[in-house]
Amino acid sequence: MNLRHGARGPRELLSQIDGPSILIADELTASVAAQLDWSRVQGFATDAGSRTYHTAILARSLKVPAIVGLHDASLRIAAGTPVILDGATGELVASPSPAQIDDAQRRAARPRRRPAPHAEAGPVATRDGVRIRLEANIELVEDLKFLSESGAEGVGLYRSEFMLSGRPLDNVSEDEQYAMYRSLVEQVAPQPVTIRTFDLDERQVTRDPSRPERRRTRPGLRGLRLGLANPAGLRTQLRALVRASAHGPLRIMFPFVSAVEEVRQARGLLREAEADLQAPGRIAVGAMIEVPSAAVAADLLAPEVDFFTIGTNDLIQYCLAVDRTDDRVSDLYEPLHPAVLRLIRLVRRAAGRHRIPVSLCGEMASDPALVGLLIGLGLTEFSMTPGAIPLVRQVVQDLDFAQARMLAGHVLRLATAAEIEQYLFDALAASAIQRSPLP
Ligand code: PEP
Ligand code: MG
Repeated sequence: MNLRHGARGPRELLSQIDGPSILIADELTASVAAQLDWSRVQGFATDAGSRTYHTAILARSLKVPAIVGLHDASLRIAAGTPVILDGATGELVASPSPAQIDDAQRRAARPRRRPAPHAEAGPVATRDGVRIRLEANIELVEDLKFLSESGAEGVGLYRSEFMLSGRPLDNVSEDEQYAMYRSLVEQVAPQPVTIRTFDLDERQVTRDPSRPERRRTRPGLRGLRLGLANPAGLRTQLRALVRASAHGPLRIMFPFVSAVEEVRQARGLLREAEADLQAPGRIAVGAMIEVPSAAVAADLLAPEVDFFTIGTNDLIQYCLAVDRTDDRVSDLYEPLHPAVLRLIRLVRRAAGRHRIPVSLCGEMASDPALVGLLIGLGLTEFSMTPGAIPLVRQVVQDLDFAQARMLAGHVLRLATAAEIEQYLFDALAASAIQRSPLP
């Protein structure tokens, strides 16, 4: 791409590769991944990344086998080397033997496990009757077909920046956005859709093709901050959202909020759009809580918004100072760190005191081992990748809310992530024995 500066996008360049092939890269940004021809490129592996790396999240949406966080695969594997990539086990085998190829072909031919075509839908509750709401995180409108399969009660997070597919912001008109949001809202209605305004960083906006987009550098000008620094783009998006809200229940959520002033400014822009379009005040407005300052000051933010959504993917990385794209520190990325759990409790309490709903939409919610703890911390609304919903549903139905609260109360007194993990594991094993006692 650098050599052919400006001439072509990645889709066109990679179209000259003989397929089928596997892409191995030091880093693959979500905007490039969104443009690839996935019938030709059948999987990818990257040196960078972790489970919450945006490209990994996108791979799950696209159903493309992928492995991220391999540290040095792109240096160790020369172009043209035959490889076997198994996204389920996270194994990449370079120059496999004939026996390994036979085995991989046999495994690939087996039918894939997918959620039952008509997974149970509608409200779900714990054994003792506490209602838990499960919504879906969506990156691509095509994912909506998985919504009914998964039994989600709406879209809790639409990552709107994925609609740009690497295009500069000013290439996407208000009308194009309106048509997209309207179609999303109409397809999901009567269930609600929560649309997050563009969560981009400065490189994704300036699109300097001579520099790879690396979120790991200069992460500060991003999300709502970047939107407020370039208000023209945010205004256009807000106008499109206000227009789309006439067609079904739509909520707006601002990403990367770090202070009350930002929310006030953003709501000011929304009010202008609403006044201009003569559609005053029908949209609920939320703040994503994903920067530690927003979590610590959640009691001050709560009166300014209609709802909170905790974005643990970012909250964990900024709380623990661990860049989620940096494979070198990914072992320090720990959802069970006591500081992370305390922040979540702080946000839930602030929301409760101000009587606003709070949901959690990071990858943490989709981990069946963790969702019980989150419920014990008082959370009752989650949004996650649609494929994870059927299993989380089962976990919720098996769970006793009163016990989950006691468990969370104990966990919050433990000092290390390892102790917390062991305690959760023991509790899970004990409750499994209780549910199916030995004869
Ligand atoms: C998060 O930070 O938890 C989140 C859901 O947003 P994203 O992963 O898109 O940054
Ligand atoms: Mg985030």
